[in-house]
Amino acid sequence: MNDKQRTVSRKEHSLSRDKLKALEELQALDLQIRELTLQAEKHPQRLKVIESEKASAKGVLDGIRGRLADNERARRQQQELLGVEKDKVRKWESRLSELKTPREYAALARELEIAKKTNTNAEGEINRLAAEYEDLKKQATAAEGVLAEKDTVLSREGTEIKAILDGIQAQMKVLEESRGKATGAVERSLLSKYERIRKQRGGIAVVGVVRGTCKGCQMNIPPQMANTLRTATEIMSCPSCNRFIYNADPIEVPATA
Ligand SMILES: [Zn+2]
Repeated sequence: MNDKQRTVSRKEHSLSRDKLKALEELQALDLQIRELTLQAEKHPQRLKVIESEKASAKGVLDGIRGRLADNERARRQQQELLGVEKDKVRKWESRLSELKTPREYAALARELEIAKKTNTNAEGEINRLAAEYEDLKKQATAAEGVLAEKDTVLSREGTEIKAILDGIQAQMKVLEESRGKATGAVERSLLSKYERIRKQRGGIAVVGVVRGTCKGCQMNIPPQMANTLRTATEIMSCPSCNRFIYNADPIEVPATA
């Protein structure tokens, strides 16, 4: 290789480095865009979690309110029953004195006994329902508190998340503009290959090769290829992962004596 050839080759090498630089800049932007997109997705998910917590708090409260309504209905029924039976007892008691035979008296006395027992049971049930009602009321108050708290959290987080999303959107706009400029600096054919690799390889399409190892897939590239890469005039690809590669050997600092 004569001097002229060497100069041309160096120039071409630096041209191919420039192309890679443009790709790397694009890659850096794409990674930031991907990170922002992930963040943007994460926040509404958090909101969904709080919304579902609120829905289950509402479910608990509705359940307690349903039981309160059942309790009130049952109490009304027992009170009506009690009223009817008490009337019966009063009527029968006044009739007892009019009865002629001991047999008739005994029969009515037995009926009275049963009616009084029914009343005692109804009173017991009413007391039990009243106690249950008090307990359910307390549960309802607690459940209302939980629901109100979830509501507060939801509206607070909703405002926060909206602010965050607005911020992300603004950042995204800037990044998209930069990306538009960055893609303009990349050759069309390279760009489409870059997009393809990026999608297949987790967003990383341009990687360095350090001491013969591709930093994208950690595989060694053939030594001859590693040599060529140091002065390459064309953009090269890793034979294992197909990513664009460039030489990234650390600059050897001569050992000082
Ligand atoms: Zn590789």
